[in-house]
Amino acid sequence: MNTNDRFLDANIPDDMAASIRPKTLGDFIGHDSLKQNLSVFISGARSRGEAMDHVLLYGPPGLGKTTLAHIVANELGTNFRATAAPMLTKQGDLAAILTSLEPMDVLFIDEIHRLPTAIEEVLYSAMEDFKLDIMLGEGPSAKSVRIDLPPFTLVGATTRTGLLSNPLRDRFGIDLRLTFYSPADLAQIIRRSANILGTAIDGDAALVLAGAARGTPRIANRLLKRARDFAAATGAAQITADTIRTTLFQLHVDGRGLDEIDREYMNAIIRHYAGGPVGIDNLAAALSEPADTIEDVIEPYLMQLGFVQRTPRGRIVTDAGYQHLGLEK
Ligand code: ADP
Repeated sequence: MNTNDRFLDANIPDDMAASIRPKTLGDFIGHDSLKQNLSVFISGARSRGEAMDHVLLYGPPGLGKTTLAHIVANELGTNFRATAAPMLTKQGDLAAILTSLEPMDVLFIDEIHRLPTAIEEVLYSAMEDFKLDIMLGEGPSAKSVRIDLPPFTLVGATTRTGLLSNPLRDRFGIDLRLTFYSPADLAQIIRRSANILGTAIDGDAALVLAGAARGTPRIANRLLKRARDFAAATGAAQITADTIRTTLFQLHVDGRGLDEIDREYMNAIIRHYAGGPVGIDNLAAALSEPADTIEDVIEPYLMQLGFVQRTPRGRIVTDAGYQHLGLEK
């Protein structure tokens, strides 16, 4: 398995993935206080007939940032437009999207920390005054033009706010942080998805699966789909805790949700660097993975479990991490 596969809704046909995705705040499981606040901001904007303030969503991949952006548009009753920062390479790319918005629309920009500075600067006046300042032409004949934009809500998503420039971060009126889900919330998500997929799963099975889903709804849904395949292969009428154990075993995922990549990561620190501390660049080289993938996709969950710690001198594997791998320190 490749690191990124873990976060793709692989093998889920688009219509199926779309039907599993919650459409309203009521369907969105967990994060109760975040939902309560968001619901107040949505009703406020609706009752005033204004565009809602810009929203910054942050947290590791697969926790529901895109889903929430869709929900905001849905609950506001407006259009949803989506793009991702790596697709915006010229100021004109962003200008084309902004000028095609209708009043009150929600514009979602995924991976917003990856916007090139020149494009980010165009966004400042668009967010603050709903004005687009762009340069037309080049050299001495170039001139700056200012275009009025309709009021809109920008929803930006990022895996780490630390990567966002201050001027950009300051322009978001609403900051929402998504954290890993509790096993109980994940079990509820699993039961809801199983219901939509028309698959029977018993309560124990949902809990065992939840424990191995890395606190992440996308992973819970992916494992559920695989468990459904294993249940079908054995002709079982429903997914049981045994089906889940077989599924996890076959996919080399352990009971806490660690897979080969996590074990390789921890083993690299233990074997090559005597348990650490080791810097992220050395680890990236040892694992042949980009440093930001390691920081976004592998480390947050291992740190949440307390298996790895980030110290000023680098990463270290903790006693709990050694214990989990069955190794002596
Ligand atoms: P992100 O944009 O943060 O990477 P997504 O919004 O794409 O994550 O969520 C991944 C999948 O997980 C969604 O397709 C959705 O089915 C499911 N999901 C995420 N959050 C929730 C939730 N709170 N309740 C139910 N399902 C969720």
